[in-house]
Amino acid sequence: MSPTDAPQQHQPRVTSVLRARNLAKAFGSNVVLRDIDIDIKRGQVVALIGPSGSGKTTVLRSLNGLEIPDGGTVTFAGSDASAGSGLSIDFGAKVGKNEIAALRDRSAMVFQHYNLFPHMTVLKNIIEGPVQVQKRPKTEAIAEAERLLERVGLADKRDAYPFELSGGQQQRVGIVRALALKPQLLLFDEPTSALDPELVGEVLGVIKELAEEGWTMVIVTHELAFAQHVADEVIFMDGGVVVERGPAAEVLRAPRQERTKLFVKRLQHDV
Ligand code: ADP
Ligand code: MG
Repeated sequence: MSPTDAPQQHQPRVTSVLRARNLAKAFGSNVVLRDIDIDIKRGQVVALIGPSGSGKTTVLRSLNGLEIPDGGTVTFAGSDASAGSGLSIDFGAKVGKNEIAALRDRSAMVFQHYNLFPHMTVLKNIIEGPVQVQKRPKTEAIAEAERLLERVGLADKRDAYPFELSGGQQQRVGIVRALALKPQLLLFDEPTSALDPELVGEVLGVIKELAEEGWTMVIVTHELAFAQHVADEVIFMDGGVVVERGPAAEVLRAPRQERTKLFVKRLQHDV
């Protein structure tokens, strides 16, 4: 599934993809992010966990330029041909439209509620970004979309509309749409939490394959068993700050902070 310029498996060099420092965000008087630092290396999978309202979605949206932090910096490395040169944004200074567009181009989001365009076919949903935003040749974008659909078992849904698909199928299209942008970083915001339980597996299966292929990703999820299986690092947030971070097995099985312990315990009891 990896495009030609996608991260390679067994990458010999450990290269940084993203470095975020001191991200801060308030909505009015509601401070939702404080001092958020995130480092992601190429091929690394980071699971972002935490209670509802802790700021997880705002972190992803900030990394993707959908939300503009009030302060802090985001730096993307310019590591391979597709990424071109590096990108560094200081949100403490005035940030221009071009910078935001450049930031948006570095990562791609997979949303909790899929966010497919309802009036467009599956194919059109997938090629919209590559053709309209990235100005890629349409024939090339279609060929790539078909290849990716085939890969997630949805080749026959090419001309279907979102309402004709199950939630699991829609989310697999959502993933293909993100992959088609050939981003440096994939961002998943609770990709399975809107799905009926019997459809969760097919989506987690695709994400697991992407991890094995070496994609660099941040996954917000409540699926702790899955997180432990695919993530290299787990970051636990609460109240807009990072409370604890570390290797997945350590944070999930032997958390050090009281708040992490409570959260992990509660989620494990729920399942
Ligand atoms: P999570 O994804 O962990 O549930 P969010 O990042 O969605 O948390 O939200 C963190 C906090 O920011 C919440 O208090 C939420 O109400 C608030 N918030 C998020 N987006 C907005 C917005 N666009 N306007 C005002 N408040 C917001
Ligand atoms: Mg959220």
